[in-house]
Amino acid sequence: MRKKVVAGNWKCNTTIQEGVELAKAVNELVAKEGAKDVVVVLGTPFTHITSVVNAVDTSRIGVSSQNCAAEAKGAFTGEVSAAMVKSTGAEYVILGHSERREYYGETSEILNKKVALALENGLTPIYCCGEALDIREAGTQNDFVKTQLEETVFNLSTEDFSKIIIAYEPIWAIGTGVTASSEQAQEMLAFIRGLIADKFGAAVAEETSILYGGSCSPKNANELFANPDIDGGLIGGASLKAEDFLAIINAY
Ligand code: 13P
Repeated sequence: MRKKVVAGNWKCNTTIQEGVELAKAVNELVAKEGAKDVVVVLGTPFTHITSVVNAVDTSRIGVSSQNCAAEAKGAFTGEVSAAMVKSTGAEYVILGHSERREYYGETSEILNKKVALALENGLTPIYCCGEALDIREAGTQNDFVKTQLEETVFNLSTEDFSKIIIAYEPIWAIGTGVTASSEQAQEMLAFIRGLIADKFGAAVAEETSILYGGSCSPKNANELFANPDIDGGLIGGASLKAEDFLAIINAY
């Protein structure tokens, strides 16, 4: 049975003190009321990771960075390597987020290096894909997402691909309050699972957790998660409120 995953992406929000308070609140709520069969992940800024790891029950809540360097180490001022992320106690790394692609010029070539380093260092990549509004309006979203995957994670060996989580985040739904309809999300995730089956085989496709992200909230999570191919969510804004995040975790 593939895992259900609800991962928060705090993006560039919270001071370390606020982040630790938020993590503690999530930890308490999840311990008391959280659905036991859902893997819960907190994607925090680099600076917060170790403090958050120390603030939560890591047997219940995993911690993720939101990026890692494309180089293993060396003279790359300001970069944080996959080995460094791993040494903080994080288990996951969000890679390929549309904000990184758009604002920081992350190409498929760069992302291939990051994914490889993440895997070499024992981190689980939460690999994001998704189209912009003009592509959705032109109706070419399937081709676009297929290319994004073919240029990157479809180059992995079957063994390595089996370790990653995929997150489909249509750019037009991120932070806009406009969620993909449950049908649109299910359709795309089923399409992605089909691509994985063609590339790596039906068993791998069946085991891969594929998440939806984009204005996911306590209001729409129930309907989204009821779909057979939606294995959870990558949550931005709503992950900054412990009660909302819990409600999404419990939306299965
Ligand atoms: P929102 O949930 O704020 O739309 O953000 C989604 C996202 O980008 C998560 O990575």
